Amino acid sequence: MAKRERGIESMATTGEETQNQARMHQEFGNKSLLRSDALYQYILETSVYPREPEPMKELREITAKHPLNPMTTSADEVQFLNMLLKLINAKNTMEIGVYTGYSLLATALALPDDGKILAMDINRGYYELGLPVIQKAGVAHKIDFREGPALPVLDQLIQDGKHGTFDFIFVDADKDNYLNYHKRVIELVKLGGLIGYDNTLWSGSLVAPPDAQLKKHVRLFRDSILELNKALAADPRIEISMLPVSDGITLCRRIS
Ligand code: SAM
Ligand code: CA
Repeated sequence: MAKRERGIESMATTGEETQNQARMHQEFGNKSLLRSDALYQYILETSVYPREPEPMKELREITAKHPLNPMTTSADEVQFLNMLLKLINAKNTMEIGVYTGYSLLATALALPDDGKILAMDINRGYYELGLPVIQKAGVAHKIDFREGPALPVLDQLIQDGKHGTFDFIFVDADKDNYLNYHKRVIELVKLGGLIGYDNTLWSGSLVAPPDAQLKKHVRLFRDSILELNKALAADPRIEISMLPVSDGITLCRRIS
């Protein structure tokens, strides 16, 4: 039994129930399990990096040298996505927002050899940074990369009748367009398929006090993420689960 669980158990069995319940609430209630950078480092070093495929490591290291590297998906999140894609037997997927291709490579490695990923980004240069690693990993044939804004591509897919054809769609691009993406990808994902919206906890800024000093880009898209979260929670066409992995990912399962 984990130390934390043992702690909870021993507190719950001493008999001073009211006092202990209050203490437990104070110590454990309303808090994320992940309380420190050291604990996060522990996760990476214990269960992520030792199991990270060599091409993923290589791409992570290349991306770390790029000036915009904070944009990349975290190693623990892509490990999760890789497993999720295998669990749902994903074959036909889409990624909006590729950057150097770290989550794209994790997806490509999870799909069967005849799997397909429609990948979109306004900047081909970023994608080309990671492309040699993707090619070396032997998965480039699964990727159909389109340079340019994603919305017109989605509109074209709808016009071409590609409704309900995607098993998984990962949305990780311009946050002020997330609701516009949702209007379209909900039609393109199959019934029972998944959409993953990344960064839905937006650096924790969603619950920041009104006078909080937020970084410019955090402040800029905070309202878009708040609006998205509200809309997803109220959308009867999907079941949702908001996971506090990395900067938050909301999984939406299409049910109608
Ligand atoms: N998933 C990537 C990874 O794992 O490294 C990170 C993506 S990064 C957070 C966001 C990307 O979205 C950037 O590379 C940016 O060029 C791209 N982007 C921004 N606006 C876009 C748009 N309208 N359509 C497509 N891509 C866009
Ligand atoms: Ca992201």
